[in-house]
Amino acid sequence: MSGEFLHTDVKDIKSEASENYKDIKPEKEMSIKDIKAAVIDEFKKAANDKASDNEMSKPSVDNTKNEPEKIKVLEEVKDKYISDLKSKSDCPESIKDNIDASKLEKTSPEENAKLREEFEQNKKDLIAQWEKDNNTEWPKYTEPVYNVDGKMIKKVGYRYDAHHIQPLELGGKNEASNITPLDCKKHQEVHSKNGTCTNLVEKVKGAQNE
Ligand SMILES: [Zn+2]
Repeated sequence: MSGEFLHTDVKDIKSEASENYKDIKPEKEMSIKDIKAAVIDEFKKAANDKASDNEMSKPSVDNTKNEPEKIKVLEEVKDKYISDLKSKSDCPESIKDNIDASKLEKTSPEENAKLREEFEQNKKDLIAQWEKDNNTEWPKYTEPVYNVDGKMIKKVGYRYDAHHIQPLELGGKNEASNITPLDCKKHQEVHSKNGTCTNLVEKVKGAQNE
């Protein structure tokens, strides 16, 4: 009898309790909120990480060299150089201006040395390829060349120098289309202190360091 009463009593308490506490948000819903907050936090954190990644991947070299004004100046210096080269050349029609002034960059001294060595090793083949491509013979000296001290520096029959149209130190390649024959004295001129090739190299260097 008392057991029966007790059972009923407990049942009533139970239903009363669930009635009283139904407004309290169940734990499950709370944690969804927490998860949402955590997800938003993660998103924010990921966005920040990405932003700082971009910050870090920014090149340390100043991009101002790409400004239109600077490219215009580079283009002018480059055009002057190419026309000077043609005026000094025995085969001006073979000189193609494939130089994109906006993309000129100084190569590292190590890379430059490597390319120089590669050139010295392949010079003969490159000249042979150039002759084939231009359907003409690489010019040779028909008279001996003497230096200022009167010493003969080129014998009759020696080949003209091979000059890189786009200098190796400005990203030029050891390709037949990028070399051109030049008389050694004219070659010295383009590379002299105020030579047009030197000017171009200096301009690119200057634009890079500004
Ligand atoms: Zn040269």
